[in-house]
Amino acid sequence: QRDRLRDWLVVRESRGTDTAKAKLVVLAGPTAVGKGTVSTFIRENYPDVHLSVSATTRAPRPGEVEGVNYFFVSDEEFDRLVERGDMLEWAKVHNAFRYGTPRRPVDDNLANGSSVLLEIDIQGARQVKAAMPQAVLVFLLPPTWDELVRRLIGRGTEGLAEQQRRLETARVELAAQHEFDYRVVNGDVAEAAEEVVDLMRLRPHASHDSS
Ligand code: 5GP
Repeated sequence: QRDRLRDWLVVRESRGTDTAKAKLVVLAGPTAVGKGTVSTFIRENYPDVHLSVSATTRAPRPGEVEGVNYFFVSDEEFDRLVERGDMLEWAKVHNAFRYGTPRRPVDDNLANGSSVLLEIDIQGARQVKAAMPQAVLVFLLPPTWDELVRRLIGRGTEGLAEQQRRLETARVELAAQHEFDYRVVNGDVAEAAEEVVDLMRLRPHASHDSS
């Protein structure tokens, strides 16, 4: 998988992305809303959608696979990627580690007519929209605030202080939902995934709100 990383580091040629049907869809939303679950469901059930693999400076969690979940890179490698313009967007998330989207696989897939899904944070979503206005921004919402709190506590991956911090961030992030082209409520994972995939078959400027 290291090779895949090296692969997109080779000199890029600039190509048009004017394929009529391929869509760039950005899935963002507050902590614990289930972005990861929805994008994993899409990866497993809709193989024609290319799920972008981000680079990150955080360490792998048990079970995470290099090149599948993330490209795990050092701080120095991340600096280099940014300096060379290899990142379509990047951000420091939860005030901790850096995460970014390698530009080349996105360009290549779109040029080949494949739709691409990015599962990234809101700061990143804004950068993508600025760089590629044709991108379709989808905001994933919890059915209710209480349900979001329940999911965050239920997954048990964060301590109490971190949970509080993420919930504060979630309030701010929820306020950004109107910047997005579409909103999808994640009540049922399969249904939310289907809504997101359906958006890839729409024209980019169709106006529709699924919430
Ligand atoms: P985790 O560490 O739990 O895998 O991810 C933490 C957060 O980083 C999630 O909110 C996820 O959406 C965000 N994230 C993952 N990859 C990227 C990326 O390439 N760019 C940005 N901006 N955020 C990302």
